[in-house]
Amino acid sequence: MVETTNVIVLGFVASLCASAGTAVGSLGVLFISSLSRRLEDGLLSVAAGIMLAATFFSLLLPGLEYAGMQHSEVLSVGIVSSGLLLGAVSLFAIHQHVPHEHFQLGREGAERTELSRIWLFVIAITLHNFPEGMAVGVGFAGGELSNGLPLALGIGLQNIPEGLAVSVALLSVGYKKMQCMLVGALSGLVEPLGGLVGAIAVSSAAALMPWALAFAAGAMLFIISDEIIPETHSADNKNLATFSLLGGFVIMMVLNTVIG
Ligand SMILES: [Zn+2]
Repeated sequence: MVETTNVIVLGFVASLCASAGTAVGSLGVLFISSLSRRLEDGLLSVAAGIMLAATFFSLLLPGLEYAGMQHSEVLSVGIVSSGLLLGAVSLFAIHQHVPHEHFQLGREGAERTELSRIWLFVIAITLHNFPEGMAVGVGFAGGELSNGLPLALGIGLQNIPEGLAVSVALLSVGYKKMQCMLVGALSGLVEPLGGLVGAIAVSSAAALMPWALAFAAGAMLFIISDEIIPETHSADNKNLATFSLLGGFVIMMVLNTVIG
């Protein structure tokens, strides 16, 4: 067990490290100047698979476990289900009010509209990094390194294709490579912010732990179902997207077992 202050520091630093994945992905713009739709669908699906497995293994199962230490089985599953729905509804509400573009980009449209589409896409990726950071922050609930570490690593990994997608998209509308890299890396910096919020929430009261874990899971599930799956299936790459998602799921499951 790690003490409270350390749990907060741990959650914050881990989510900061995970956001480095976004920066690493953004560096890719130096070597790759465009992504085919097929490759982008595949990469973002792997990211979705990692996120999906992380919600089960690193958030919901520990959430049920923590709730079970304090409550009966029925109440525990009630708490985790409520937290999950609350997380999803909150993200839904945010989506209703914040302008954003879905994860994939159409290549058509006038130059000016294309420019604002790209920026809305950058905003979408940036926004979804908040619940991810929160997940990492709450992942160290109770000072549990065996849960937090694989989660931080998994989220860090799936940030790489996301950072790459952001920076390459910016390059396509004429920004300089350095600017693309910088904005790509910056889009990840929402993550430690989420991490700090999550870590503080989870450290402030033991009773909050299962709620916070389930909330982060619901927020991530919302993004996966509302954004990534429909978008990666909207071109003709359904099979690739499905198997890439499964591949990502396996990667996270392995990480969780090997490091956890
Ligand atoms: Zn993600």
